[in-house]
Amino acid sequence: MATFKRRIDTSLLPVDILSYTDADFYNVAKNFIGESATELLEIQSIRGPDSLLLIADVFGILNIKCTILNPLKEKICLKSDDDAYIVKPGIKSSMDYFCELIMKKQDESMKLSRKENRRYSHINSSINSDLTITNITKSYQQQLSSSSIATVIQSPSNMCVNENYHRNFIVKSINHWCQNYSFKIPLIEGVDYHLLISSTNDMNFTARIKCGCNSKITLVKIRKNFQLSNFYKHLLSISCTTIKKSNKTVTLNNNLANNIELNVSDDGILCEIADRIKRRASCDIAKRKRIH
Ligand SMILES: [Zn+2]
Repeated sequence: MATFKRRIDTSLLPVDILSYTDADFYNVAKNFIGESATELLEIQSIRGPDSLLLIADVFGILNIKCTILNPLKEKICLKSDDDAYIVKPGIKSSMDYFCELIMKKQDESMKLSRKENRRYSHINSSINSDLTITNITKSYQQQLSSSSIATVIQSPSNMCVNENYHRNFIVKSINHWCQNYSFKIPLIEGVDYHLLISSTNDMNFTARIKCGCNSKITLVKIRKNFQLSNFYKHLLSISCTTIKKSNKTVTLNNNLANNIELNVSDDGILCEIADRIKRRASCDIAKRKRIH
C-alpha cells in the first residue's frame, strides 16, 4: 500500500502560538477546528497548546452523561439510532491536524532554541555554564603523577576560538582548580600570575603563564584547549611561593576562611570576599585585644 507523508506546515500558525492562552489560543483554534470543537476545548478548560497536547483524548469527555454537554454533543457528534454519540470524522481529523501542527511547532521551537543557544552562548557565559569537568580523580596528587593529566574540560565545539576564548578558559580553569585544590585560596590574574597569550595567526595560539614567583610556564594545547597541568604542577612545587604567599595575605584568619565558601565566578566577588576576610580579621584582632 502506498503511504504518503502529510505536509505539516507550521507557518499557518502564529509564530508565538506556544505562548498563547485563553482567548488568544481559542481564536487560533477556531481557524483550524471550528467554533464547536473550540467550545469543547473551552468547556474542558484547555487553555493553551501545552494542555491540549497533554490531554490523552480531547473527545473523551463526551462519553460522560451530563446535560451541560448535550448541546455541544449535538454540534460535534452524530447521534446513532441507539442514542450513541460519535464525533464527526471531519472534526476529529481537524483536531488531530491541529494537535500535529502544535507538536511540530514545539519541535521546531526546541530545535531553534538549541541552535540559538549554541550560537549565542558567548565565551564567558558558556564557559561558566556549559563546562563539564570530567575525569577528576579523587586525589590531585595521583592526577599529577599519572601520565595523562586528567582535567579535561569540555566545551561547546562550535564556539569561536580566539584569544579571548583561551584567556577565559585558562582563567576559569585556574579559578576552578583553586576552588577545589589549592586550599580555597583564589589566585588572581594580574596579581598572582600573568597570562601571556600570543598568536602567529588566528588559529595558532601559544600561552605562557608568568607565575607570581617569576617562573615562566608554557602551557600545552591538547586539541582545542590549553591544559593547565604544567602550571598546577608548578604551583604545588617547593620552588613556587605563590600559593604560600596568597595563603598569608588572604587567609588572615583560618577559621574564617574555612567558613567562607569562595565563589570564584568573577573577580568582583573575589575582591569582595578578600575585603570581607580582611574586615572580619581586623575585627577579630580588635576583639582579642579587648579580651587580653
Ligand atoms: Zn610560581
